[in-house]
Amino acid sequence: MNKEIFIKELKKMNITLTAEQLNQFEKYYEILVIENEKYNLTAITKKEDVYLKHFYDSLTLTKIIDLNNQSLCDIGTGAGFPGIVLKIVYPTLKVTLLDATEKKCKFLQKVIDNLRLKDIEVINERAEIFSKVNREKYDIVTSRAVAPLKHLLEYSVPLVKINGYYIAMKGEITKEIENIDIYYKKLDIIKDKILTFQLPFEKSTRTLIRYQKLKETNQKYPRKYKEIKNKSL
Ligand code: SAH
Repeated sequence: MNKEIFIKELKKMNITLTAEQLNQFEKYYEILVIENEKYNLTAITKKEDVYLKHFYDSLTLTKIIDLNNQSLCDIGTGAGFPGIVLKIVYPTLKVTLLDATEKKCKFLQKVIDNLRLKDIEVINERAEIFSKVNREKYDIVTSRAVAPLKHLLEYSVPLVKINGYYIAMKGEITKEIENIDIYYKKLDIIKDKILTFQLPFEKSTRTLIRYQKLKETNQKYPRKYKEIKNKSL
């Protein structure tokens, strides 16, 4: 996906970029490729691929939620997907980028400084720990390609405000949703919207699952990482 097609495809999602935003994407790409040699951030480095599989793909979140004037936590953001991309396009969005890997956090701070992004913070922490002490804090919590859905729900939902949303950005959903209803019950959430579509050109499947939080999450959750991993709710 070259820049012209990127612009055109975003228009179809009602996103019009300013010259400054386009410039920020260019810079982001350059920093990503340079730093990738040091930090091993992504296997995708060809420019057209980064624009499609990282930048455009991150922005598909807007198909399912309005991001203006919201607070958002991106769990396991890696090299900033979708969090930094969303911040570039939605200046009124308040963003927290969370990642357990220190070197990725250093990279994220470098991008933020270089692009002069405001109202965006980087936190080097595991989600299971962060969500013990930051409860009911965000309008929206999201994550792309981080862990099985059940794990994500257990440590993401506590962070969401009552009536707010957790949105999982997934590829093809298969086994992950087997026996998941007990999670919805125990975490007091409802699956309120699901969208399946294909990435343009490349045609791989994407699934966005949106959950709404109904009540304050029981303090029992999240459990310790070992339990989350080994024992179903
Ligand atoms: N969201 C990015 C990165 C996916 S790779 C993208 O789509 O490109 C998964 C990232 O999640 C890694 O950077 C890893 O450090 C982080 N991660 C995995 N489990 C985590 C946890 N429990 N808490 C915080 N970060 C986590």
